[in-house]
Amino acid sequence: MVRCLIILIFLAGCSAPKTVLIISKTNGYRHASIETGVIALTEIATELGCKVIATEDTLILNNTNYDVLVFLNTTGNILNNEERELIRNFVEEGGGFLGIHSAADTEYEWPWFGETLLGAWFVRHPPISEEIIYVVNDAHPATKCLPTKWKCTDEWYVYDRVPKQATLLLQVNDHPIAWCSEIENGRTFYTGRGHTKESYKETLFREHLRGALSWLTNK
Ligand SMILES: [Zn+2]
Repeated sequence: MVRCLIILIFLAGCSAPKTVLIISKTNGYRHASIETGVIALTEIATELGCKVIATEDTLILNNTNYDVLVFLNTTGNILNNEERELIRNFVEEGGGFLGIHSAADTEYEWPWFGETLLGAWFVRHPPISEEIIYVVNDAHPATKCLPTKWKCTDEWYVYDRVPKQATLLLQVNDHPIAWCSEIENGRTFYTGRGHTKESYKETLFREHLRGALSWLTNK
């Protein structure tokens, strides 16, 4: 009887839905694709069986439990020191972080954010263009769904460094464009795609995001 109870409690724990917290706060350039991106990520996370909270209010970090934190096209300094500490503790203690596109154009005054969590900061971008993304590592859930050469249109960021201690997944013209890494007990994933509204309707980009979220929620 006791053993059955333990198994039931274990199963209940396994099936508890994970919560994905999407933050799209901006304190600089604001992408017109944010609303479309929130809808797409909500659909994808819901399909994965997750609950979703989407907000522009970082105060939520103080009073909400979540399993994956998404910075969707955030820009500028959007966090106070207490919120920075909460996010660092969350990741180091086993949480998942997903940065999309201008997440790399965020929190320049918080060294841990760019140097460790994101792995790099945005520097500049040429005009939107069609390019070929090369899959460098096809063993990850976010890349095994992609063709080896993935032709797509986006705004391609140049970053201030090659991310250290990260697994490079995608690159464009020898520039890294998506990567992931483990930070203490947590995981972090960054993709440079996601500037345009249209991108969030692309089947392959949605598969890429689905793979990233699934990797982050299946710890
Ligand atoms: Zn952009």
